Amino acid sequence: MQIDLRSDTVTKPTKAMLEAMMAAPVGDDVFGEDPSIIELENYAAALFGKEAAVFCPSGTMTNQIAIKVHTQPGDEVLCDVNSHIYNYEGGGISFNSGVQAKLLQGNEGRLSAEQIEANINGDYDWLTRTTLVSLENTVNRAGGSYYTIEQIKPIQALCKTKNLKLHLDGARIFNALAETGESTVDMGNCFDSISICLSKGLGAPVGSLLLGNKDFIKKARRVRKVFGGGMRQAGILAAAGLFALKNNVLRLKEDHYKAKKIEAVLKQLPFVESVNPVYTNIIIFHLKKEMMTGDAFEKKLAEQNIKVSAFGKQTLRMVTHLDFTEDMLDQSLKALQL
Ligand SMILES: *Cc1c(COP(=O)(O)O)cnc(C)c1O
Repeated sequence: MQIDLRSDTVTKPTKAMLEAMMAAPVGDDVFGEDPSIIELENYAAALFGKEAAVFCPSGTMTNQIAIKVHTQPGDEVLCDVNSHIYNYEGGGISFNSGVQAKLLQGNEGRLSAEQIEANINGDYDWLTRTTLVSLENTVNRAGGSYYTIEQIKPIQALCKTKNLKLHLDGARIFNALAETGESTVDMGNCFDSISICLSKGLGAPVGSLLLGNKDFIKKARRVRKVFGGGMRQAGILAAAGLFALKNNVLRLKEDHYKAKKIEAVLKQLPFVESVNPVYTNIIIFHLKKEMMTGDAFEKKLAEQNIKVSAFGKQTLRMVTHLDFTEDMLDQSLKALQL
């Protein structure tokens, strides 16, 4: 049995998902004529109480399109130091939009309204124009921590007062909502734009959606084309995404439960220095320098057919997901204790 805990992106489409893909009606989406993509976009927009959506190949593209539409070259976006848009999108903020990031040190990746307010530049010719705030929920690099809507509301109010746009990198927003029990519509109401990923915990092979009002999405479609993301008969992918949204959201709590089980075992291991708090499906832990390097640990698990990812020299990450079964959990827990 091969066990892959490197990321929740490693999931493969199930038979039922493949059947939905095979049956999908398609058309040319650049002409706006793919019925399956239109259905997915409408479904996702309604789910979050937004007017419209645009289907894209990746979450990097949906985030980068949002930044491009919300800003002008020379502007500044405020985001957490751990944010995906800054760390893992190849410098796209500057490359695609000519925008710079001001990095804030959040509380496990979460920013506060006070902190954001203190970092908004005044209106002087020599200061960078602050125009966008980007939040991430859950926060990948901070171990899957999440915001509640109550924590976001003051940020939304501040952005309104200060005339800033508010974007959500919601690659794992359904993991956050699974824990808080809050509604997608209430979450959607907090933001000008939202990016959601279908290919993470939801188990679709490809795809992300950018959500917003009609005017924003009209601009986003143009930028998607410029970025090379205009797809043709991609309805087969949209069908997988729709299947994922309809079938794989409610089960996310199982992934969280399995992550908690792994956390409990890791905490008992003599060579583990510490385990970051586990909130959702991401486990980040640190090894004792004198006892075990990250490389050695990776090798040790690889010998038992378990893949994990290095997240620094002494730090590793495991992510639970749809294809990580109960049996695999049992086997992993045993392997860790050897
Ligand atoms: C995975 C991820 C994305 C998007 O990544 P792609 O691989 O481009 O789809 C965006 N934000 C966060 C927090 C992510 O974890």
